[in-house]
Formats: sequence, structure tokens, C-alpha cells
Amino acid sequence: MSTNELEAAGSPQATSSQPKGNGSSLQQTGRRELPGRSPQSGQATVEVRGVSKQYQRGSKVVEVLKDLNLTIGTGSCEALMGPSGSGKSTLLNIIAGLDTPTSGSVTVRGVNLPSLSEDKRAEWRASNVGFIFQTFNLMPVLTALENVALPLLLTKLPSADRERRAKTALEVVGLGDRANHYPNELSGGQEQRVAIARAIITDPALIVADEPTGDLDRQSADEVLELLDRLCKDFGKTVVMVTHDPAAGERASVLHRLDKGALV
Ligand code: ADP
Ligand code: MG
Repeated sequence: MSTNELEAAGSPQATSSQPKGNGSSLQQTGRRELPGRSPQSGQATVEVRGVSKQYQRGSKVVEVLKDLNLTIGTGSCEALMGPSGSGKSTLLNIIAGLDTPTSGSVTVRGVNLPSLSEDKRAEWRASNVGFIFQTFNLMPVLTALENVALPLLLTKLPSADRERRAKTALEVVGLGDRANHYPNELSGGQEQRVAIARAIITDPALIVADEPTGDLDRQSADEVLELLDRLCKDFGKTVVMVTHDPAAGERASVLHRLDKGALV
């Protein structure tokens, strides 16, 4: 199944009634082109160049990332591993446009993130990045379907289309029959799969996951890793995952090791 199939299955009306524009399947989600965005060059989705990050703690400057260079290819599934405190989450947040480096450039699909204002970065994130967290971060008062559909509230899609797409995304993660369950009626592994459905609902090119299997038993963890693998192989997504899980590291097509803020 391709990205376009998810799009088409989730939103057939929008697909048939709207021009495809530049061919991006994301046009239907209300995505707007941001200034400074160049047509995708085709090779790397993420280019990190000379990135350093420092925090001020009292009078002390803590150097968390030191002059990092990293390239992540389009459609690649890559893992970031390293000891606790080595800067993995900081780097992931910078790649996802949640945080900015103290110096250096971070280019994702032709957009230099640190050059965007905070508002523009938020807008960029909403249509370009899907987030998966260790603790799932589902809303307890919403059903699985409502949780998955949540990011689409930021788009102009009518509610029937939002629901249809959310159902399709739940089917992609194997939970089509759990649409009306609340998070507390699901296992941890199922909750994380709902979170993955939520992460792909806007059809982002980049998926970032911070220790996505950290709270799961082995079998659920393997199911989640299998699913992340499929997002790359079958849907062409670029996945960057921070992990302590050796099984996740083994599955990744590229493994980056971070130690004390530097790649080793
Ligand atoms: P990891 O994910 O590899 O465990 P982090 O990226 O979370 O590491 O953190 C790296 C280092 O940066 C740690 O020493 C942490 O204490 C420090 N750090 C992270 N965020 C902040 C912050 N907002 N202010 C000050 N120090 C921070
Ligand atoms: Mg971390």
C-alpha cells in the first residue's frame, strides 16, 4: 500500500474532486506551501549540519550537542542510540522542529527549520511530522478513532472525511475493530498502535519516535517495530527513532550512536 493509497482510501471525495497540484498527496489535508520551501531534491529528507545545542543552567553552560552532522535519507528507517543523557531526545526534537539548535542548520525536505519563526515551525510540523512518544500520549476521554482524527481538526477536511481517514489509519495499524474503544480499554501495544495511526493521519513525510517501545513487553514492542518498518517500506515514510531496544537498532537501516553529544 502506498502513501497515496492511504490518502485515497481515507479521503476519496477530496481525491476525486480536487486537482493534485504539484502531485503532493497532502494537498487535500489543507497543507499550505511555506515560504523558502524548495521542490524536494530527492536524496536526503533530513540534513543536520554543524549543529550545537547549549543550555544555560545557572551560571554554567551545558553543552548537549557538539557540532553534529547527520544525513537521513528519504524513506529510510534510522535509529539513534546511546546512553541516557547523551542528547538523543534533544537531537530528535531539533530534527522534528520542536526545538532549535544554538548554532548550525537543520534542513528537512528543503526547509531550513531554524530560520522559521516559531509560528511557521508549528505550522510546518503540523503537516510534515508525525510524533510517537514512549508513553503514547492518547487523550483518555476520546475513543481510539477520535484520538486518531485529532490532528485533522487543524485541517479544513469535513468531519465525515476526517472520520473515514481515521478509520483507514486504524485499519493500517490493525485496529479497525477497536475504533470505539477508549485508551483504558486497550493494551499498551494497542495504545501505541493507535498513536502510530494518529502520527500518520496527516500523511507526514517524517515520523519521529522517542523510545516508542520503552513501555512495552517484547511481543508488543516487536509489533510496533514491524509497523514502523512498514511505514518506511510500504508507505515511503522517513522514520527516525530514539531507542534503547537492541532489536530496534538491529531492524533500522542505519544506526547512529550518540555519546556525550557527539556521534560516534
Ligand atoms: P537523552 O535523550 O539521550 O537521554 P536528552 O537529550 O534528554 O538526553 O538530554 C541531554 C542532556 O541535556 C542532559 O544532560 C539533560 O539534562 C540536558 N537537557 C535537556 N533538556 C534540557 C533543558 N531544557 N535545560 C537544561 N538541560 C537540558
Ligand atoms: Mg531521551
